[in-house]
Amino acid sequence: MMTYDCIIVGSGPAGLGAAFRLSDLKPDLRILMIDKEKLCTGGLRHDCKMNFTYPVGFPMDCWTGKQAKHYLPMVIERLKPEFMQRVDMETYNKRAERLGVSLLDIRQSHLGTDGGLELIRRLMDELTDRNVEVSLEEKVNDIDPAARRVITSRREIGYRDLILAPGRGGFRFLQRAMAKAAIPFLDNVVDIGIRVETREERFSIVRDYYDPKFNFPHRVRTFCTNSGAAYVVREHYETRDGRKYYSVNGHAYSSSCSRNDMVNFALLKTVTLTEPLASGQDFAEMLGCQAMLLGGNKPIMQRVGDFRLGKRSEAKTFNRDLYDFEPTLPDCTAGDISLAMPAKILKPIWSAMKMLDTIVPGVMHPGTIMYYPEIKLYANKPRFIDEYFKAAENIYLVGDGAGTSRGITGAWASGIRAAEGIVN
Ligand SMILES: Cc1cc2nc3c(=O)[nH]c(=O)nc-3n(C[C@H](O)[C@H](O)[C@H](O)COP(=O)(O)OP(=O)(O)OC[C@H]3O[C@@H](n4cnc5c(N)ncnc54)[C@H](O)[C@@H]3O)c2cc1C
Repeated sequence: MMTYDCIIVGSGPAGLGAAFRLSDLKPDLRILMIDKEKLCTGGLRHDCKMNFTYPVGFPMDCWTGKQAKHYLPMVIERLKPEFMQRVDMETYNKRAERLGVSLLDIRQSHLGTDGGLELIRRLMDELTDRNVEVSLEEKVNDIDPAARRVITSRREIGYRDLILAPGRGGFRFLQRAMAKAAIPFLDNVVDIGIRVETREERFSIVRDYYDPKFNFPHRVRTFCTNSGAAYVVREHYETRDGRKYYSVNGHAYSSSCSRNDMVNFALLKTVTLTEPLASGQDFAEMLGCQAMLLGGNKPIMQRVGDFRLGKRSEAKTFNRDLYDFEPTLPDCTAGDISLAMPAKILKPIWSAMKMLDTIVPGVMHPGTIMYYPEIKLYANKPRFIDEYFKAAENIYLVGDGAGTSRGITGAWASGIRAAEGIVN
């Protein structure tokens, strides 16, 4: 059986951050990075918008501002972002503050889908030059902490230290691994919401601030705004018991999109479950399946004008004619999102829409489309035993799947922290 100094599961930003930092600190270490896909699957590959200001992407239960400030320059050094300008922030801020809304001033860069692919290729080449072994299309099925080995789709491999960075998609794998290593964890927080799509001229703030981060009351926020060859996509997910559902998302800067006049963004509400403690993942998946039931196995879309009148949308109005633009994700069911969304989530989101329309007038045009569901499964919250995200002897858990990040830069910085823990 081959044995490595460190095995990293996942080649997303958390795994990459760990691999680069480990090889910086100890160039002689034998490092193996494994991914079940041909390319990493997360945000580096899809749209690649990067935020370099705390607390965006850095959950405050894992990061202080001081820690983020310490690690962010290392992330910048490796990712080499070109920062985008923000203008008229004072005006937007004043309008927001009057409503009890905050607008975060975030340093951002945006590569888009095509640019993200280029970045991944560059990083992979650099890793190979550093003698980090990368094994793609190899799935880690299980871990055996007592024997310090992982069992993959191809072989068994030994490790001295193990970093698990399987992302949100590896949520179940991580839960199994934590059970195996007797790591206690909580899974009680999810983000549920809608994706809003309209003409760019009706959300013109994107010309001043590419991905504006508004925080509304009741833990509602804007997330992942896209403009410039922007379009809405649906992503396929499967529940623990094999039921399928879609969550919507948004992309931009892709040569595969022929339109250049649209904008989309998510409005998400963070839901924290308390007593009696249920699984956040199960709850979110149940909502996803409910949306599929009502949407005939497709996401639901509704025009703002119909929602205001309390009536469902109909397929015939999704044209350029009556409402003046067609959806960029047409394969959805025209319907009524209020039938599928719990009131406790829908009400604050609708209220946030109205506030946003006061800050950036136009977004509530009757033609604006709301797609549902957009679901973000983040946090298995493991109990860490040190500040380097060590969760058990020789096992470190990082990235979105472990709740140590909520974005590319936070994930990368989490990987660096684990690497430093190993070397220390
Ligand atoms: C469609 C999409 C778009 C996004 N856009 C952005 C964005 O623009 N900006 C931003 O900051 N964030 C974005 N995000 C969020 C961002 O992707 C995550 O915050 C970040 O990628 C988390 O990094 P990670 O390394 O924890 O996980 P990931 O990037 O998800 O990487 C995990 C990797 O582990 C692999 N893996 C999982 N299980 C196993 C296993 N059992 N065996 C082997 N390999 C495994 C997966 O294939 C994957 O490549 C987006 C997410 C998605 C899904």
